Amino acid sequence: MTPPPVAPGLFTWPADEPRLIGSRCRACQVVNFPARGSCPACTSVDVERDLLGRTGSLYTWTVQGFRPKPPYAGPEEFEPYGVGYVELPGEVRVESRLTVADPDRLRIGMAMELVIVPFGGTVTYAFAPSEDSAA
Ligand SMILES: [Zn+2]
Repeated sequence: MTPPPVAPGLFTWPADEPRLIGSRCRACQVVNFPARGSCPACTSVDVERDLLGRTGSLYTWTVQGFRPKPPYAGPEEFEPYGVGYVELPGEVRVESRLTVADPDRLRIGMAMELVIVPFGGTVTYAFAPSEDSAA
């Protein structure tokens, strides 16, 4: 059975090639993720659902080394994980969990690809280095 997404409306699921669900402002073209009902740049409510690209580049990153405060809903047994911003070309910077928590394997500007990973009985989105996902 396919596990459910950690929250509704974040990404297309189930899907062979899942996409993050953002919103694009029809007035000023600004893209947001997660999707919003109005545009934070120009306050227009003329926004449309926008499926984001699956690949981008690592804008910046860090390693989350301790269990985040509530409402963090992850597994009881905490393991450090990478977290960062991935720049989706022409769209938006997405804050995301990374599949890699080893600083030696992360560098700014590296190519990243969207993946769906298990998350305490559900699934959530993350970005993986493209080299890894090709292997
Ligand atoms: Zn706008």
